[in-house]
Amino acid sequence: MTTLTEEVMAAPPTPLARDRAPRPAWIEIDLRQLRRNFQLINQAKPRQLRHLAVVKDEAYGHGALPVATAAVAAGAAFLAVSTLEEAMALREAGFRSRILILGDRHEAELPWCVAHNLTCCLSEPDTVARLAQLAARAGQRVPVHLKINTGMNRYGVRWNETLPLVQKILAEKSLLLEGALSHFAQSDETEKTFARLQLARFHEALNELAARGLTVGLRHLCNSGGFLDLPEAHFDMVRLGILPLGVFPSAVCRRIPGLAAVMSVKARLAAIQHLQPGDHVGYGMRYTAAAPRRIAVLPLGYGDGFPRVRNQGWALIHGRRAPVVGGVSMDALTVDITEIPEAKLWDEAVLMGRQGDEEITVHDIAQLKNSASYDVLCSWRERLPRVYLHDETTV
Ligand SMILES: *Cc1c(COP(=O)(O)O)cnc(C)c1O
Repeated sequence: MTTLTEEVMAAPPTPLARDRAPRPAWIEIDLRQLRRNFQLINQAKPRQLRHLAVVKDEAYGHGALPVATAAVAAGAAFLAVSTLEEAMALREAGFRSRILILGDRHEAELPWCVAHNLTCCLSEPDTVARLAQLAARAGQRVPVHLKINTGMNRYGVRWNETLPLVQKILAEKSLLLEGALSHFAQSDETEKTFARLQLARFHEALNELAARGLTVGLRHLCNSGGFLDLPEAHFDMVRLGILPLGVFPSAVCRRIPGLAAVMSVKARLAAIQHLQPGDHVGYGMRYTAAAPRRIAVLPLGYGDGFPRVRNQGWALIHGRRAPVVGGVSMDALTVDITEIPEAKLWDEAVLMGRQGDEEITVHDIAQLKNSASYDVLCSWRERLPRVYLHDETTV
């Protein structure tokens, strides 16, 4: 498979962030840390193990183009996304890497996949026939990956029913069975019983095919959790989404020392109020001052993706935690800075990330909204400008 590596080496140019009007609330993406994370992952994995970079949903809100650029530079064999539009945005930006589209494709999407050299996952015979027909018409041999359902029950052919589908794919001269994959339902928790069952079923499917002399090419099962905690499930390639972003998929999975979050969320203190005892703050008067208090307003809210909490959560100001008081509104939230007397108008606050010795982690915010780190990363809205930190300069 040397051609894969050759294609990957044809790296696209680094895309630059587009200019945006300044806003005193923003997301910082540290591309130096992103590159470091990819390096650390490369050092932590066996040399021959390939790595596919999952950059769906704008690389979990970090920007698909800059993350894909770093991934390709770090030797990613494939990029993966979830929608045709995401894949085409990568092609339009000049990425010539292999691109796998996760999930199943509707018939209407298939001509686009062929035209833009996108690799589909196949789960059922009608799509096989349709894609084969389109590939033949285009005079191409189109690579495809077989999706095997080992227990997630989203996409894929059941692990013990793969044979007819594989035979159908192999019978189509315009298709090339390049890979086979499955996906873990739970890989980053301490409890690994179901993951091991899925691994056993994946082996069962591959063994059944191998016994008939049928080869599937690249086998890949692991996401970030599986990569960290289930080395026996690595096969030929691992699919990493959250890990290169410096966020561990859970609190209990194995750690790679030095890996650190790439994304921070920041805002400046846009107003300061001096409360008297009995004064309230915000909609619904959810907070009442028991004593004189100094309150800072940060100009971002649930409309930017901050959880709509009341009297919960914090911002870091001068390296200390300032608790959120009152309810978070659409465009603003309020924090108590009484204990931070040096805080002044337009000072920088950190809503997610580090300041001094303190850190508010993605997992801290996930707890606030009763959700997972993945959801927190993807929830920051487009209206927060992304600021990309390069080597010495800021774009
Ligand atoms: C999103 C996704 C991944 C990446 O998962 P992470 O836990 O972020 O590494 C891998 N495989 C499939 C099929 C996915 O949908």
